[in-house]
Amino acid sequence: MLRTGLSSVARRAYSTTHTPIITAAKPVEGFVGALGNTPLIRLNRLSKETGSNIYAKAEFMNPGGSVKDRAALYVVKDAEERGLIKPGGTVVEGTAGNTGIGLAHVCRAKGYKCVIYMPNTQSQEKIDLLRMLGAEVHPVPAVAFDNPQNYNHQAARHAEALENAVWTNQFDNTANRRAHIETTGPEIWQQLEGQVDGFTCSTGTGGTLAGIARYLKEKSQGKTKIFLADPPGSVLYSYIKSGGTLIERGGSSITEGIGQGRVTDNLKGEIELIDDAVQIPDADSLKMIYRLLDEEGIYVGASSALNVVAAVEMAKKLGPGKNIVTILCDGAHRYQSRLFSKKWIESKGLIDALPEHLKKYATL
Ligand code: PMP
Repeated sequence: MLRTGLSSVARRAYSTTHTPIITAAKPVEGFVGALGNTPLIRLNRLSKETGSNIYAKAEFMNPGGSVKDRAALYVVKDAEERGLIKPGGTVVEGTAGNTGIGLAHVCRAKGYKCVIYMPNTQSQEKIDLLRMLGAEVHPVPAVAFDNPQNYNHQAARHAEALENAVWTNQFDNTANRRAHIETTGPEIWQQLEGQVDGFTCSTGTGGTLAGIARYLKEKSQGKTKIFLADPPGSVLYSYIKSGGTLIERGGSSITEGIGQGRVTDNLKGEIELIDDAVQIPDADSLKMIYRLLDEEGIYVGASSALNVVAAVEMAKKLGPGKNIVTILCDGAHRYQSRLFSKKWIESKGLIDALPEHLKKYATL
């Protein structure tokens, strides 16, 4: 007799060979419950090229879209625990944008108002997103920290003038660093079952670098090497290289949210955790944004790309066969009117830095 459909043997073969490639995670509680536990992505092409495993923590997959969601939650929780804010109050912060976006989400979820001061050099996308999330945004001239008009001091004064308001002060509030000691660091350690030879990332407040470095150094009994990754115009590279001298440096970078002019409280006391530093030119960061898209299908901003370039440098310095970890801080959507605009890239003198096959990504 002619039988239609799958034979029992074929059916068995189907059910055993077709295991799902996506598995469901358990339900979580609200925005805050969705934070963290981000994937650790092995970057295949760069791993093959270096002979080490280059792993990148996909922080752009946090519910507010960046590594700073973790710090945002921790500084608000810290303010609540210290009784600095009561229900219905206002959170005020100075930020390059990502902490503000994280705070705007956390504030909506917890019923607080959110006021953000940021330098007016930052991308329009971040300002727009903050306003869409209900935050009151004050873009202000980008002046140095020692100027009273610096965005951080303006945020502090705004909070002081309001009832039931807190300036969360992410740069010098070590609840920021604690977020990474208690969450990001342990996640990386568990994801690689303790086999972490090197970690590198750039710094804005320093919370991510210092927090993860603190955890990994302790767990590995000092064996995990830590490199700071710095953009042009930041003082930290020379600070580490010179063994602690702060040298005034000019210059700027296409990266946003990273680079520092001082040693923040999140870095203070933790500098001895940093074994070495690398400085990454903008041309290399830009090229890596497009390479990650072209080779891996990963769409991230300039600080993430800079971090990956630094991880490759670290792999070269440590030699083959190592596990090197870095951070993909946020997605490229926040910067696309700049980073994917041919005109903008030309205005920065960087178009010739791109290999021919990558130029097609500068489409806007
Ligand atoms: N990348 C981006 C895009 C950021 O916005 C920030 C924070 N400003 C960082 C990296 C650096 O993180 P941290 O403040 O923990 O040093």
